[in-house]
Amino acid sequence: MRTASTSRMDQLVSLCRRRGFLFQSSEIYGGLNGFWDYGPVGVLLKRNIKEAWWQDMVERHNELVAPPGAPGPYEMTGLDCTIIMHPQVWKCSGHYDLFHDEMVDCRETKKRYRYDQIRGRWVEHGGRRYFMTSMAESIEEAAEETERRALKLFKLRGKDAGKLVWEEWRMLPEIDNLADVVGPDTTTPGTLTEPREFNLMFKTFVGAMEGREHEVFLRPETAQGIFVNFKNVLDSTRVRIPFGIAQIGKSFRNEITPRNYTFRSREFEQMEIEFFCHPDASAAWYRYWRDRRLQWYIGLGLSGERLRLREHDREELSHYSTGTADIEYAFPFLEPGEFGELEGIAHRGDFDLRSHMEGKLDPATDPLELERDAEGRPKWRGSGKDLSYRDPVTGERYLPHVIEPSAGADRATLAFLCEAYCEDEVPDEKGKLQRRTVMKFHPRIAPVKAAVFPLVKKEGMPEIARRIYGALKRQMTVFYDEKGAVGRRYRRQDEIGTPYCITVDGQTLQDGTVTIRDRDTLEQWRVAESAVVEQIVARITGDDAP
Ligand code: ATP
Repeated sequence: MRTASTSRMDQLVSLCRRRGFLFQSSEIYGGLNGFWDYGPVGVLLKRNIKEAWWQDMVERHNELVAPPGAPGPYEMTGLDCTIIMHPQVWKCSGHYDLFHDEMVDCRETKKRYRYDQIRGRWVEHGGRRYFMTSMAESIEEAAEETERRALKLFKLRGKDAGKLVWEEWRMLPEIDNLADVVGPDTTTPGTLTEPREFNLMFKTFVGAMEGREHEVFLRPETAQGIFVNFKNVLDSTRVRIPFGIAQIGKSFRNEITPRNYTFRSREFEQMEIEFFCHPDASAAWYRYWRDRRLQWYIGLGLSGERLRLREHDREELSHYSTGTADIEYAFPFLEPGEFGELEGIAHRGDFDLRSHMEGKLDPATDPLELERDAEGRPKWRGSGKDLSYRDPVTGERYLPHVIEPSAGADRATLAFLCEAYCEDEVPDEKGKLQRRTVMKFHPRIAPVKAAVFPLVKKEGMPEIARRIYGALKRQMTVFYDEKGAVGRRYRRQDEIGTPYCITVDGQTLQDGTVTIRDRDTLEQWRVAESAVVEQIVARITGDDAP
């Protein structure tokens, strides 16, 4: 049995493929798990989201005034760092030692699973009791699947399903004895290995030689490029604390179980800010960034009820952080009541700058101390460079504290896709109600902003429509279409979320006006050809529409 939300997700996935939002990477060779390509429409959507982030966080930020809710004015700047960095970066940051997931292997099927993602339930029959597991994404599918395999294990027929005694669902890490566990793809108990750590960083080699000393890593986050350039930015610009450095770029994690469409991919893009401030002001800046980032998603159309801000409990926080919050979204592929992380906002204290200065810190120590090897030497040496900051006014020298809003461009794109997907009924040319699929993107992120149609391909209509198309094209992404019934042309634009359709019709030839149709309200109104560009630009950019 499939849930309503799963089937809605299936429909979105199929629309994304059919209309060119997302394809599986290397699809003609069967695809590569955890890798996705953005198609001709998807690339526009994702670029618009990244562009909106950069504009709102960096470009349009006015450092001369304190934005609402901010403790004061601040500066913003950017960077574009390499994917492959000096290997010592990851040793000092902790990723080399700590960036791992626990995984279990199945000795029978040779499959590998993330330990904390396997769900299961105890089943008993005839005095024997096993923990039946499943990797199915919904509880309904997992229930069906575990029942089927339990019947096989106990050599029962379908009609005997009522004889099985089931307990509540649990996660595998809660189970002590793996000998009683039946792996997700087998009916034999005890085939899963004990969990082992697995480093998520992709490894490669620089130069022609392979071997430990030539080993480098694809970055698992963009943040470290910012920390190691902190001094370069200070020395090459006139920025003063408080200020933020923003970066958008690819990150790579060899996720054990990539799943849920692009939500957990192995190659993805991040949009990260490291915001440097005085330690005394850091708690206030943390609150500012947490609230500001939540508002950013709302402003671009994510609805309040599917979006939430979740502050980490004290136990979840590292002791050097006074606050961490996740912005989470109720993705339709999750169970009702479950949320998935879109962005994390963390108060990181001076942990990162200190690590790159002194060497890898032991996060378990309070106050933080260098991690040492058996001989008492630092486990991983830092750069030895002074990354402290001297306030030019007060002369105070200190190590700045960092607030890190870290977002995923692909997860944001997926959330906007899920939010936009709508099915409704609209009247066709004859007034008959027809089902339509419409992507209700905020105009700022909509892949195509407007489409221009001549009603018919004659009487001079195409010429006027092409003229309007040419004029709009200089300002935004526009689509021209003269083929087929106009109703069909509207539907096609609705499916990719084009907010406005402009039609040149018989009346245009008489009075020089065209119709503009609104995707969401279906309202149509007439404007003079000469006013089209101005009006569409105003509506797209959110300036007062006439
Ligand atoms: P998760 O717990 O879901 O693995 P995380 O807490 O490890 O995520 P961070 O290290 O905080 O994630 O990364 C910041 C952001 O980068 C996340 O909020 C998410 O938007 C994005 N991100 C992280 N891992 C992935 C991934 N495998 N695929 C797509 N986006 C990702």
